[in-house]
Amino acid sequence: MPSPRRFLAGPRTVRVWLVLGVLAPLGMLLVSGLMLYEMRQEMWSRAEETSKNLLQLIETDVVRNVEIMDLALQGMIAKLENPLVAQAPEALRHLILFDRVVTADGAGILVLFDENGKGALNSHYPSGAGGSFADRDYFQVHRQNPEAGLYISKPYQSRMSGAYTVAFSRRVAKPDGSFGGVVVATLKLSHFTRMLAKIGLGPNSGINLIRQDGIRIVRFPYDVRDVGTDLSGMPTFQRALQERDGSFAERAVRDGVHRLFTFTQVGDLPLILAIGLSTEEIEAGWRARALMIGATLLALFGLAVVLARLCAREFRRREAVEAELASLSLTDGLTGLPNRRRFDEALRQALATARGDRPLSLLIVDADHFKRFNDRFGHAVGDEILRGLARCLSAALHRPGDLVCRIGGEEFGVILAGTDAEGAARVAERLHAEVATLAVASAGIPVGAVTVSIGLAEAIGGAQGELYRAADAALYAAKSGGRNRTCRAEARPAVPHLRLVAGAGVAGSVSAP
Ligand code: GH3
Ligand code: MG
Ligand code: MG
Repeated sequence: MPSPRRFLAGPRTVRVWLVLGVLAPLGMLLVSGLMLYEMRQEMWSRAEETSKNLLQLIETDVVRNVEIMDLALQGMIAKLENPLVAQAPEALRHLILFDRVVTADGAGILVLFDENGKGALNSHYPSGAGGSFADRDYFQVHRQNPEAGLYISKPYQSRMSGAYTVAFSRRVAKPDGSFGGVVVATLKLSHFTRMLAKIGLGPNSGINLIRQDGIRIVRFPYDVRDVGTDLSGMPTFQRALQERDGSFAERAVRDGVHRLFTFTQVGDLPLILAIGLSTEEIEAGWRARALMIGATLLALFGLAVVLARLCAREFRRREAVEAELASLSLTDGLTGLPNRRRFDEALRQALATARGDRPLSLLIVDADHFKRFNDRFGHAVGDEILRGLARCLSAALHRPGDLVCRIGGEEFGVILAGTDAEGAARVAERLHAEVATLAVASAGIPVGAVTVSIGLAEAIGGAQGELYRAADAALYAAKSGGRNRTCRAEARPAVPHLRLVAGAGVAGSVSAP
């Protein structure tokens, strides 16, 4: 198991850090996105709510005004049907008919038209309305249809005041039931616009009062071009007509502005009130906030990614440094070979896997009379020879599992895994042969001047110390035997103990190159 520090800085951890560095802000983005989405939904439902409240307010006002006017109209009709009123002189009749002129502020006049469309009496007596009004829609509707009831006219420009007006009218019947004229109450469109002006609407939002046949009475903000236009063909109007109450968002045909339309039928009247709030105006506050949050998050996201990458880079750098240090701690500075620590570790591992069919051999190689080279040529040349020896020993090893280490001053250990004593003896011979080629020309040391003695031991297990001691004893034997040779300790594969077999005292076999 790796140590906690190694785990924290391992390559997998680096990846985890990178992923976390990206995932954390991504999560933040997601949560904020959801929040913004909810905020937007809330904003929309609030806009809908506001629209509905506004509609209700306006509806109440319109219904109340129409009711008052209708009451006045019905009152007039009731009085007209009274024979006493019919017989009264005109001045008195006027007094009676327009006794209490119930007109809302901004209202126009109450008029009684005779069956020919002539203004018989009006509330502004004595200035009677001149000419015939038989061409007006309200007059024609009532003349043709006795059941028309309260009729709301198309908006029109008053011939008397010039003001745009809408008329509310009822039919007057003669005693025999035939058409006897019309009573009309007019209301200036300015009444609506004055009332609606009190509502703070954005410049791209609007309120419409439309007849059920699609003829628009008035739109706020007021534009005379909107008065009386036919909206019956418009999909938004059709939808409002079918649904009676509700709301939907759509792009308006009139000006291409996307709006939230909320609409309602006005009481029982054949009128539709629709309020269109510009989507942009509804979302303006939300958009500003979304932009701010989005920008902040994006900046944080970028920062997190940069930090995660910096962290990962730092981790990798540290890892490389640690690997370098670890390798240095196992390397000999002079020769570049693995050092004693590495040797001990490698030997322990090799011994752990050594078996009868997979023996292990150890060579201890020691430079002969090395002190003399030092003494004669100086320490620097001694070092040069050591480096040369390291090169020669490395060159003589061919198998990937072979390992040569510098284990002491002028002493090298060669671990030959999977190699028995015979194989090791052949390797030792190659080592001698390689060393025999070593020369240090700068110091005048010729080829063949440097020699080594080698102690060889084989094992299939057992304690590390024993194998080492056996090889060392074999080395000693080689030294004693005249140097520049290999001495072999004999191992008994069956037992994990190594024993030097008799020969010239200690050496089992001696080979001299
Ligand atoms: P023998 O054949 O019995 O091994 O004789 P030797 O002189 O090689 O053995 P000894 O143990 O008497 O001397 C080893 C010498 O190696 C002594 C020491 O100064 C020298 N030595 C050890 N390490 C280094 C080193 O790193 N550089 C140099 N130049 N000399 C070293
Ligand atoms: Mg020596
Ligand atoms: Mg020595």
